[in-house]
Amino acid sequence: MVEAEGVDAITVSAYHETGQGKLHSESNIPHIENAHLPAAAKIRSEVNIPVIALGRVEAHTADRVIGKGEADFIAMGRKLLADPHLPNKLLRGAEDEVRPCIYCYTCVSAIYGGTHTRCAVNADLSFEYQRPVAKAAPKRILVIGGGPGGMESARRLADLGHQVTLVEKSDRLGGTLRFAALAYEPNERLLNWLKRGIEESSVDVRLNIEATPALVAELKPDDIIVATGAVRGMPDLPGSDLPHVYSGDDMRKLMLGESSDDLRRKTGLMTRLATKVGAMTGATANLDLVRKATHAWMPLGKNIVIIGGELVGIELAEFLHERGRHVTIVDEAPRFGKGLTLVRRMRILAELQEHGVAMQMGASDIAVTADAVTFTDAQGNPHQVAADHVIVAKGAEGDMRLGEALKAAGHKVQIIGDATGIGYIEGAMRGAFEACAAITA
Ligand code: SF4
Repeated sequence: MVEAEGVDAITVSAYHETGQGKLHSESNIPHIENAHLPAAAKIRSEVNIPVIALGRVEAHTADRVIGKGEADFIAMGRKLLADPHLPNKLLRGAEDEVRPCIYCYTCVSAIYGGTHTRCAVNADLSFEYQRPVAKAAPKRILVIGGGPGGMESARRLADLGHQVTLVEKSDRLGGTLRFAALAYEPNERLLNWLKRGIEESSVDVRLNIEATPALVAELKPDDIIVATGAVRGMPDLPGSDLPHVYSGDDMRKLMLGESSDDLRRKTGLMTRLATKVGAMTGATANLDLVRKATHAWMPLGKNIVIIGGELVGIELAEFLHERGRHVTIVDEAPRFGKGLTLVRRMRILAELQEHGVAMQMGASDIAVTADAVTFTDAQGNPHQVAADHVIVAKGAEGDMRLGEALKAAGHKVQIIGDATGIGYIEGAMRGAFEACAAITA
């Protein structure tokens, strides 16, 4: 027994899968929830010294595992980076107040890159000394855009005692984070945490409202934050106007029960009906329900080609593969996964490869036909891949027009998030932190 050798405790921090052609193992930072708990329980049953388990264990699971005697302690690393107040919140019984880790590996990747660690959802990490602070005189602040950057800005400023109005042109908060949450469930935890923060704050939320000059004149804000996100155009691609070709925006609307002239033109009666019923009953507003329902039915054929190998295309490929689609990703880029952090990129690309998702990097002459996508691969060989549907997951870019127009009209404006260029969740949260620091300086 290890106790006899003078060992005081055991930390079960890695469980390596072997064989079966796996391209990576679950390390001390597993992506699979509770990956090391079975090993910890087995060791705990054999020893009489404390066993410390770890690795993506949620608080309620930790409570259960310790209660059953399958571990004595659960260590949490990433969760404490995302919310250093986690222990106090759990002690108060307020698990839903804990800012959730989204398992994106920005923190770990930063260390691999030799820089200070950062957290995608907690912009204070490593920048505590720049944290926005409360000033004596509250300001009137207008936040335009209800995505993650807008919500985080509004929440922070209201906490500091400012009078905040948040306007959002659609009928709900979330912005592109809603679609990101559909493709990758941990993002939904962040979405819910942000929405909860807004609900419990003094922020005046106005939905279905465009930020017009008249509204700005009425509100007379001291400062404005513009968090209106990116614009998404369809890249110039032969065949991109065919009816089975969806843009990223089309896909978002299709999955979230929204509509547009473009989408009505491209979808059949059955799909339009299902989308309408989903929107009317509120079913498409329930992301968990949509995630589950799409395992049974989606208005997409068996063979899907995704044009675009950046974060959105890669996570979409994972989502579609899990729903039984045969997926091929094609892009001109020589490397896939732009926008994903180093560790997440390594893992997801390896997993897609293990699961048979075809990835064609460095492709050229990409074109869409009625039933296929044609291209030349990096070695100069021509290809034709069958495609029932084609999804173009690229072409998004920043849009500073509104922010610049407000500046030109004499307002004090901070432009943040994807409106300044695609920065994903970390960019949105970081932008909110910096805008709030500037406003409260
Ligand atoms: S950077 Fe990502 S993985 Fe790391 S603690 Fe923050 S949310 Fe979690």
